[in-house]
Amino acid sequence: MLELAGLAKRYAGFEFGPVDLAVGEEVLCVLGPSGSGKTTLLSLVAGLVTADAGSVSLDGRSLDGLPPERRNAGVVFQDGALFPHLTARENVAYAATDEGRVADLAALLELDDVLDRRPATLSGGERQRVALARTLAADPDVLLLDEPLSSLDAPIRRRLREDLHDLFAALAVPVVYVTHDQRTATALGDRLAVLREGRLEQVDTPRSVLERPATRFVAEFTGCENVYEVPVVGSGEGVVRVRLGDATLRVRSATAKPTSGATVTACVHPSRVRLDGAVGALDGPSAPDQSFPGTVRRWLDEGDQYRVVVALDAGVDLAATVSPATADRLASLDGAAVSVAIPPDAVHVLS
Ligand code: ADP
Ligand code: MG
Repeated sequence: MLELAGLAKRYAGFEFGPVDLAVGEEVLCVLGPSGSGKTTLLSLVAGLVTADAGSVSLDGRSLDGLPPERRNAGVVFQDGALFPHLTARENVAYAATDEGRVADLAALLELDDVLDRRPATLSGGERQRVALARTLAADPDVLLLDEPLSSLDAPIRRRLREDLHDLFAALAVPVVYVTHDQRTATALGDRLAVLREGRLEQVDTPRSVLERPATRFVAEFTGCENVYEVPVVGSGEGVVRVRLGDATLRVRSATAKPTSGATVTACVHPSRVRLDGAVGALDGPSAPDQSFPGTVRRWLDEGDQYRVVVALDAGVDLAATVSPATADRLASLDGAAVSVAIPPDAVHVLS
């Protein structure tokens, strides 16, 4: 168990923490925009930066004041930084606890064919795998990764993301994986920690963070564009009614019990909204309750999905993601009359 307690660091113009966090034998993905303090967090744990306040411990043992080489933390940075004059094999063997470990890791990370080559002759993906193997060969007690896939092309990144998921699951150590890419974070993380301006905004499972963001920042950073300040018009029986433009939106709410007249922040992830044609269902067998008519205002082809913004007749815009198969069934997306289904339990009220 990696534990951070009141960990803080101040730079001119930037304040990190105080951060409290516990990471068990799991992958914790730290997600945040550029400059939010992700690298600072890892550097504090690795001992590359000295904290102003707070403490770091690993399995109950304090790491405070220990130099990096005595923390047994494995660190992999974005560029992998291999020794250029050593072959891949020599790089991996450099800090290996035993020779067998090198062979095991080479097999695991599919490096057998490149072991006798030098870093300059390797592809970016191969270099990152060698860097990871070198770090793992030292049998670290905690693994710290700083955007290790961010410089790779999308197909290699997707592939390595799958490999890493299995690899991390097999390691029985805390893994802290820093990224600014939400897809990598949700694919790899057992839990997500969302960092904003040096502070943790939310720590939870990826599903919870996506579907029940704690703050507007988390909602927007994880792709939930549909965030509305709405007045409450009634509540009871686990359902809250809010005013969305001229319409009334029912929200399933087990926890939040706002009173009528209060204003709340409600959000709906675009992936939880369903687009139907004006006549008949387009995106499934039948429309659930609570649909709103509208017109497609604009759309963007993102390759694997369409992002569609619908101007609801009620007077507000709402973004929805639509599969290409669904979009194909509309003669044209431009100005299409649609019906937007918003299931009551897809709406989240921020507390
Ligand atoms: P991220 O990794 O999330 O992009 P960083 O942790 O690298 O963010 O940086 C967070 C903030 O701290 C930035 O504003 C950065 O300029 C500042 N910072 C980081 N390291 C130093 C340093 N050694 N001296 C001064 N400011 C720093
Ligand atoms: Mg960084």
